[in-house]
Amino acid sequence: PALIPFLEIAQLYCHVILYGGSEEQKERFLGRLVKGDIGCYALTDEGSGSDPVSMTTTAKTVADGYEISGKKRIITFADISDLYAIFSKREEETNEVESISAFIVEKGTPGLILEKHLKMMGLKGHRSYNITLDKVKVPKENRIEKAGLRLALNVLNTTRISLAFGFVGLARAALEAVVDFAKNRIIRGKPISEHQAISFPIAELATEIDAARLLAYRAAVMDEKNARHRKETSMAKNYAGNIMIKSVDLASRILAGYGADTEYLVERYLRDAYSWVAAQGTREVQNLVISREIFR
Ligand SMILES: Cc1cc2nc3c(=O)[nH]c(=O)nc-3n(C[C@H](O)[C@H](O)[C@H](O)COP(=O)(O)OP(=O)(O)OC[C@H]3O[C@@H](n4cnc5c(N)ncnc54)[C@H](O)[C@@H]3O)c2cc1C
Repeated sequence: PALIPFLEIAQLYCHVILYGGSEEQKERFLGRLVKGDIGCYALTDEGSGSDPVSMTTTAKTVADGYEISGKKRIITFADISDLYAIFSKREEETNEVESISAFIVEKGTPGLILEKHLKMMGLKGHRSYNITLDKVKVPKENRIEKAGLRLALNVLNTTRISLAFGFVGLARAALEAVVDFAKNRIIRGKPISEHQAISFPIAELATEIDAARLLAYRAAVMDEKNARHRKETSMAKNYAGNIMIKSVDLASRILAGYGADTEYLVERYLRDAYSWVAAQGTREVQNLVISREIFR
């Protein structure tokens, strides 16, 4: 799980430009990545991360561009990024939804302040920061033209697929750990895997992990074919997240005393899973997407 956030953040940043940028912006901002620069994605605001429309970060129109002020939370790899895709409302636009735009901000721009390094209980290979934007000046050619809210949601609709695969991977790691433990933990002369009270929940979990993987594949194939896949992606992300939590919980329970022992990987899997599951939208947000698609 430590490596997936690198993939996630690269994907999030790239897709903002890929889906929303002009040819010139693609050249300028994606070309930099080829040379080794890193980009991050800053949507989550001081207010609710689940409801981007309620963001308070605002861009004021000034000569030659914009001046952005506000606060962003939980921005992964903000410390090592050279380019920041920042979502903000534009003061000039009164319609709240239409006013959201993405802006590309360069590292070192005055007023772009890394406020706080969040100390999460898990995902130690990942780092995230709260950011303050204090009158950050952005040239007008760094504003991504495409409507910002739709863009943010379209980006997430693609990147949530790889996140679902990451969740499946962590679920599988926990499954492998618990299978190994159950085979080797001998009580009264036989492995605990011979008790159906142990092996049946493991059998069910293995089935559910396969189902989660197949849901993720379905969303990926639909994305590749340019089919509409909001419902399928949110189903995949949601289900994989639930199964990841179920998997680390079962592994921890069956390992019993060893489940909390830091010499065993399962306690780390447990911390990683709980730290990770809300990324790119909580269970409730995925259910909102799914139900909207069902009833649209
Ligand atoms: C590891 C990690 C990395 C992250 N990296 C980034 C990043 O790089 N960039 C970025 O922009 N963000 C990032 N985030 C933020 C993430 O997207 C948000 O945490 C997530 O969207 C939830 O927002 P929130 O934490 O503000 O919760 P809130 O929006 O405050 O939600 C609180 C609770 O209310 C529920 N809720 C909210 N609205 C509704 C509703 N309408 N109906 C029912 N329930 C509701 C939620 O499901 C949740 O349980 C990251 C998060 C994590 C965990």
